[in-house]
Amino acid sequence: MARLQGKYALITGGTSGIGLETARQFIAEGATVAITGRSQSALDAAGQALGGKALLLLSDAGDIPQQRELAQRLGQRWPRLDVLYINAGDVTHRPLQEWDEQSYQRLMDINLKGPFFLIQALLPLLLKSHAGSLVFTSSSVGRTGRADWGAYAVSKFATEGMMQVLADEYKNRNLRVNCINPGGTRTKMRASAFPHEDKNKLKTPADIMPLYLYLMGEDSRRKTGMSFDAQPNRKPGAAE
Ligand code: NAP
Repeated sequence: MARLQGKYALITGGTSGIGLETARQFIAEGATVAITGRSQSALDAAGQALGGKALLLLSDAGDIPQQRELAQRLGQRWPRLDVLYINAGDVTHRPLQEWDEQSYQRLMDINLKGPFFLIQALLPLLLKSHAGSLVFTSSSVGRTGRADWGAYAVSKFATEGMMQVLADEYKNRNLRVNCINPGGTRTKMRASAFPHEDKNKLKTPADIMPLYLYLMGEDSRRKTGMSFDAQPNRKPGAAE
């Protein structure tokens, strides 16, 4: 029996990397899937890669009015939302001293403020699910700060905090809220932060999917307010 049969799942930033792989596996497990992306051409390419089976929603994760409109559009099409996977993210890897206000603001809008208001707008639809699962994407630098991660690390620390607040607010409802730290994974974002590392030493998005399927499926119904590692034995090192 497919593990996500009958579930409605929204994945933000589903055009590449971990988001695209999540969409692929959710569809294979029977879910009805929507992905967001900020570029129509990237969305179309992802839509093709998913065999035309995903709803494609053009939406910039850092634009608050667009996040509210996205929630409205989804509410008009779907009876409920069972899975909300907050995955879209942006990274810049540089010392704190070198951040300017504009790049700080843009990163925070995409990684933090956009998701905050998207979740707020989607809560009524999520609460229509008998077993909703809201999952954030964290990072090892969202748990232990390290040099040169700047606003990215700050946004991921705050993401962990947002998860804890929401988990506590909804602990008596049919909504669980958790974080996944993927660990260093072979994606476009990883390559942009570490252009010189050997990418063959990294896990692929497909390798880390078991935890994603567990957290979105019924097996994790009692888990909430927790931070999970998709690669628990991986040592966070310089290259992450
Ligand atoms: P990725 O392949 O670059 O995927 C990021 C996705 O987010 C892309 O689909 C990208 O769309 C989308 N996105 C970025 N900015 C957006 C915006 N403003 N509006 C809408 N979509 C936007 O990277 P990834 O590694 O899979 O990243 C997924 C998540 O994992 C991120 O939250 C990241 O922080 C986290 N993470 C990754 C690693 C790792 O080693 N890969 C480690 C720790 C945490 P475009 O195609 O338009 O760029």
